[in-house]
Amino acid sequence: MGACVRRNLAYTTALLMAVSLSACLQGAGQDDPIRLSGHTMGTDYMVKIPGIPVGLGREDLHARIKEILERINGRMSTYEEDSELSLFNNNHTPDWVDVSAETALVVQEALRISRLTGGAFDITVGPLVNLWGFGPAPQQGQLPGKDAIRAAMTTVGYHRLHLRDSPPALRKDQPAIQIDLSAIAKGYAVDAVAEYLDSVQVSSYLVEIGGELRAKGEKAERVPWKVAVERPVPEGRRVLRTLFLRNSAMATSGDYRNFFEKDGQRFSHTINPRTGKPITHNLASVTVLSASCMEADAWTTGLLVLGPEDGYELATREKLPALFVTRGANGFEQQATAEVDRFLES
Ligand code: ADP
Ligand code: MG
Repeated sequence: MGACVRRNLAYTTALLMAVSLSACLQGAGQDDPIRLSGHTMGTDYMVKIPGIPVGLGREDLHARIKEILERINGRMSTYEEDSELSLFNNNHTPDWVDVSAETALVVQEALRISRLTGGAFDITVGPLVNLWGFGPAPQQGQLPGKDAIRAAMTTVGYHRLHLRDSPPALRKDQPAIQIDLSAIAKGYAVDAVAEYLDSVQVSSYLVEIGGELRAKGEKAERVPWKVAVERPVPEGRRVLRTLFLRNSAMATSGDYRNFFEKDGQRFSHTINPRTGKPITHNLASVTVLSASCMEADAWTTGLLVLGPEDGYELATREKLPALFVTRGANGFEQQATAEVDRFLES
């Protein structure tokens, strides 16, 4: 992989393949919405709207969306050396480091999900992500040893990260603490684009970045936005289940796109901060629905780390609409919380 491409893989769900929206969306015909698409955060984005609002040109709308995505990437990417996040990561002092209000907001939400998941979701996991070859650091070609894992784990722990509201700033207790927003920033960017569309009175849209989605209104009169949860397999794009989104976001985390295999074992890019290793259970994917895509994005990684039992129990307790897909003896098994029911009907 070239250096240039690697630098852009800031938030990729898919080192192997970016999620294509066409696989996520159903339907075609003369009512086809307008599509605005491109590349961001190491993956693809697509915005679908039934029509352009009066007084706004298609190119202007797309230019504003690109600006929003570039701004967020420029602040939150660990692949951009001068991003706010990289400046914080490279600052080895216990002093407050100023960040934008939006970076602070994303960190605040990340810390909330960390607390709710008992640390299964943890944005200070960066040194472990790098150690296992899934971050900006080059892959080692061999599995990390116990000592290296133990050493990296001493710098992981969300409670060592502190956030101040005004002026917005971050501070670390330990010089080596690093932040990695890959598991939440795509969701935030989806929300930011959706909120921009709200602000220019676009009353119906579907926004997608690398498989994280948010919809509003309907695709056409009495035709809801229909999206697919895909079969958690690396090859192809096949539908496992379809859901209907009206005013909701949906995110999916899985172990089936970004992973490597060694000696017949699968190593996923989702790291359990407690063991310092990629997850190993039989949970292949978790999908969460929520009003906020940022929240859904973070939950899916947290629940994936917690696994099929603890994750499902927490999702049930929190009344989250969540779909768990496990690899069973007879193929994929689905387990959905009761709250998913309202997304099954059109
Ligand atoms: P997915 O589609 O599987 O959710 P994402 O790109 O959204 O993929 O999130 C995975 C990325 O999150 C990893 O590549 C890594 O950078 C980071 N990550 C890995 N484990 C954790 C964790 N336990 N908590 C927070 N972030 C993590
Ligand atoms: Mg995610």
